[in-house]
Amino acid sequence: MNKWAHKVLIVLILVLSIALSACNSEMNGPDASADPQDDLLTTAESANESAETTPAPTSPTDRHPLGAMQILPNHPDTSAFEPVESENWSRWPAVSALPNRLQIDMETLIGREKNQRALDGTVVILDPGHGGKDPGAIVTAEDGTEVFEKTLNLEIAQKIKTELEALGARVIMTRTNDNWISLYQRVVVGANASLEQWLTAGVVNEVELPWINPILDNMQVIYNLNEDTLESGGRGMFQGIGANEMVRQLFDAERETPNIIFISVHCNSSPETITESHGTKLYYCTNLSVFGDEHAFLMNPGEEIADVEPIDPSYSRYDDEARIALATSIHDQIITRLPSLSNENDPVLLTGNYAFIRETALDSVLLECGYMNNPQDLAILRDPQSQQLLAEGVAEAVYQFFCHRNSIIINPDLPNEPTSANPMDDHQPADLSPN
Ligand SMILES: [Zn+2]
Repeated sequence: MNKWAHKVLIVLILVLSIALSACNSEMNGPDASADPQDDLLTTAESANESAETTPAPTSPTDRHPLGAMQILPNHPDTSAFEPVESENWSRWPAVSALPNRLQIDMETLIGREKNQRALDGTVVILDPGHGGKDPGAIVTAEDGTEVFEKTLNLEIAQKIKTELEALGARVIMTRTNDNWISLYQRVVVGANASLEQWLTAGVVNEVELPWINPILDNMQVIYNLNEDTLESGGRGMFQGIGANEMVRQLFDAERETPNIIFISVHCNSSPETITESHGTKLYYCTNLSVFGDEHAFLMNPGEEIADVEPIDPSYSRYDDEARIALATSIHDQIITRLPSLSNENDPVLLTGNYAFIRETALDSVLLECGYMNNPQDLAILRDPQSQQLLAEGVAEAVYQFFCHRNSIIINPDLPNEPTSANPMDDHQPADLSPN
């Protein structure tokens, strides 16, 4: 080959390899900006497709950054499938109802150094609260500007996304613009990420998971309708009180993907024009708070009882410890960076009954960054540099949660009572009532 032909060949190889790698990164890169609906529609198909086009491995491979995900048979005592009756109300027993177990080696995260690969293998669903026709809280700032909560939530969430991706996490946003999406669509985005992981592991392990398809079909209904009300059907499988058998299966599946967490980002407000309330607060659900709320509602149903049927047993396998650790970590890392958002006079870690922390068994929290109707808090919430500090705090908290869980100090004195009524709530609460 002469010198000239050699050069042409090298250029050709270079062009080809660049084209291939671009193609590859498009296929494998984080799809945070992708429409979650596309995700939902293609999940089952793409898993099946890759089963056909990829040579079947003889043993589970290391495809996932957390190592091989094993799918194993589950052998529960069948009596454990029956609800447990308790004080006029029933709960599902604390055992998985699924025929399979998914084993993920979360230990590989422990002690990782903080660098751009630290959170490889983790998935964070970031949910900027409100959007579109639902502005959330609206306040008039001292400079006369009208400030919408939905805008602040999105600005802050986008900065959190950048920080988390810099640590290697895959981030899925429930919205990336000023769109309205229902509470239950937000729930579905998290659920879908979990089932997608199961399906991938099913392909790798060559295990059929037929129980997933009916759940995906039901979630698709929620996605298509995009409504919050029971009458519209927009709650889909999440109707009534408690968890029906399919919801229980979904929760059990989510419970076995602890590398996926859900963070809903909001800014607080109270009914008065200007408030002395201030600071960062975190909400989460526990087994006790959900059971307490559902039980209390049944004892005191008011006129709405007919609207919330059917009544199913309460779910009882939320990972309380992880949820409290995540909430604590986020709170502490934010106030370390923004001390004026700390508040020693009010409870700052609270149980709350919101759809997107109740209708999921992923470790999930609702972050209220600060009070929009407190002028000092509002100045922080609007300031890009403070938003950046907030975002860095959340990213550090997620890193601590996954890689140094033992270093998160849970303060046993922090109030942690079940609170079915939440006086300073600015959101649509969740929804033991139909609206
Ligand atoms: Zn809100």
